[in-house]
Amino acid sequence: MNLVLVVNAGSSSLKYQLLNMDDESVLAKGNCDRIGIDGHLSHKVPSKGVEISEDVSFPTHTEAFEKLVEVLTSGEGKVIDSMSEISAVGHRVVHGGELYKETTLVTDKVIEDIDALSELAPVHNHPNALALRACKKVLAPGTPQVAVFDTAFHQTMPPKAYMFGLPYEDYKNYQVRKYGFHGTSHRFVTKALSDAMGKPLSELKIVSCHLGNGSSITAVDGGKSVDTTMGFTPLDGLLMGTRCGSVDPSAVTYVMEKHGFSAHEMSEYMNKKSGFLGMSGVGSDNREICAAAAEGNERAQITLDILTYQIKKYIGGYAAAMNGLDAILFTGGIGENSSEVRGGVCKDMSYMGIEIDEELNSHTRGKLVKISTENSKVEVWIVPTNEELLIARDTLAVVSENK
Ligand code: AMP
Repeated sequence: MNLVLVVNAGSSSLKYQLLNMDDESVLAKGNCDRIGIDGHLSHKVPSKGVEISEDVSFPTHTEAFEKLVEVLTSGEGKVIDSMSEISAVGHRVVHGGELYKETTLVTDKVIEDIDALSELAPVHNHPNALALRACKKVLAPGTPQVAVFDTAFHQTMPPKAYMFGLPYEDYKNYQVRKYGFHGTSHRFVTKALSDAMGKPLSELKIVSCHLGNGSSITAVDGGKSVDTTMGFTPLDGLLMGTRCGSVDPSAVTYVMEKHGFSAHEMSEYMNKKSGFLGMSGVGSDNREICAAAAEGNERAQITLDILTYQIKKYIGGYAAAMNGLDAILFTGGIGENSSEVRGGVCKDMSYMGIEIDEELNSHTRGKLVKISTENSKVEVWIVPTNEELLIARDTLAVVSENK
């Protein structure tokens, strides 16, 4: 078997999947959660119907990896005899800055660079570096590790899309620019869509809408990202679960003054207390918002309206940026499941020749399906994302290139 372990490390969690790349099936998956707080493991072996949930002490990522080795190689969650059966490990790394434009074989220098980029993504990159170091300790000697960067796909954006209107020195000295995120997902779903449409990516202009707790929209022209809604950080662009998305920068400084917030407090306010949660007062979950709106909750309805209106504007803007549009795709928890959001976005888009099959839209979730009518000039699709699979595929490709 050709086994690849995919790791997605956060500051207090370590999500993993072990994939058999011979048939791309998932042998085991789970999460070491609450690292540095107390510790909890959830582990699943889909083929055996095994589900393990237990409290474990995880002072650091190292103990979490040690537990991961134990649960993969022993007890009822066992799927392999030893870690030497794993061909390679693929890590999701959030920020590659301007340094990493593609998936990269990990060396000590790469880990140092990822750690140094923590300045741009403090919540994510340092845990990614910790996980890379901790993982190395538990792997069989010589097992390659690969970094798949969330920002890499967007490195094809032209300066007119990624530069801000701040003094140029801030870009030169502090690398302040739009980077874009969710790149792994946008890359996976646009490729899956071109396969489903039976047309090469090089001939397609796609607006890819990844809508979840975090949301971003990317204009993908000929398989390349040419613009995206997230920016210097994943806070920019659309209204999200708890993130505010784009706001007038002067409103930010004004609110700071009114509340007496420090820069850190304001950042927490915009990242954790805003978005659906702050707007609606109902919650951060799209299902709660849709249910409350259906019951007549006005703030929940405005929240939904803002979201669908913003998405609609980006679709129009990106069609203009690409001078055309062949397909719109919806992915992520909301994009794949919420017929309300998809329907709201595609309503009144006849000027662009967009027409969806309402019946199909309202009954479809989580499946690769075209929801536009045969008359629609632009195809509209639901495309389930699978970032872990793309990370595993990339990992194998990079390892074989470097053999
Ligand atoms: P993600 O971050 O991709 O896991 O997406 C999480 C978001 O997807 C949350 O806002 C959920 O409310 C939303 N979501 C998940 N399942 C559904 C569903 N069946 N209907 C509507 N929204 C959903």
